[in-house]
Amino acid sequence: MSISISIIQTGKIQCRPSMLQQPADRPVWLRRLRVLSDRSWAEPIPVQAFLISHPEGNILFDTGMSPHTKDSNYFPSWMPTFRLTSRFEITESQGIGVQLQAKGLDPKELKAVIVSHLHYDHSGGLPDLVGAPIFVVEDDYEALKGHVHGAFEGATPEQWPKDFMPTFLKADDVSFGPFEKSYPVTSDGKIVALQTPGHVPGHCSLLVFAEDATYLLTGDATYGLDYLDKELTDGVNDNPMQAVETLRKIKELARQIPLVVLPAHDKDTPKRLLEKTVYKPSIL
Ligand SMILES: [Zn+2]
Repeated sequence: MSISISIIQTGKIQCRPSMLQQPADRPVWLRRLRVLSDRSWAEPIPVQAFLISHPEGNILFDTGMSPHTKDSNYFPSWMPTFRLTSRFEITESQGIGVQLQAKGLDPKELKAVIVSHLHYDHSGGLPDLVGAPIFVVEDDYEALKGHVHGAFEGATPEQWPKDFMPTFLKADDVSFGPFEKSYPVTSDGKIVALQTPGHVPGHCSLLVFAEDATYLLTGDATYGLDYLDKELTDGVNDNPMQAVETLRKIKELARQIPLVVLPAHDKDTPKRLLEKTVYKPSIL
């Protein structure tokens, strides 16, 4: 049995252009003010999770957005910024639970669910996955678990399953290019998570060594290949310099290992997966 990747799209988000990109040297408070005062809308972007079949079992990378984001009480009423800055397009049948069921998959039988980070549009499917082994990087959980601070940073911990306690990924010293540590996911070393912080503390990406190509599932380390190549970071993170450092590391890794790079919110991700398009990083 070979390793293969499929995409599970859980709706689309329309957000403010200033959320997708802002200069890294702009102070964080000013970047946030720009988002709040931005009155224009960007094109809707897909919210993509990934199902990886591996001889040791099925692995889910991210859990997508919940169809309940459209419910009036999904986001905390005291934090109106979610609805002021984003619009949600998702139907009941696009939730991760329904889509796994349609594939005949029982969440409890997944080998692992790796969550790149606990923002609402990556953790929204957690209530559908109770009983599955969930893994995150500890720094991410610690940064977003507080209901008030988490909401400021784009997470909705009150929507996580009751008593939610993920297992923390354990780093080892196996390096890949500029990434000095990695988190083994399968025992054969074919699937490993990498630390790609900046978008949030403890953000991780997934490196998949399949027979046909090597894939890097970036989560939100970058929103798209154009941003990655130009080393442009998003407008919502609280550590833009670290986010840019991560982009440079991803580019360096892509120079050392031919990589098909698949960001969670890039509309071209399905095409790149299908055509196994190797990313060729440019030098700035
Ligand atoms: Zn995010």
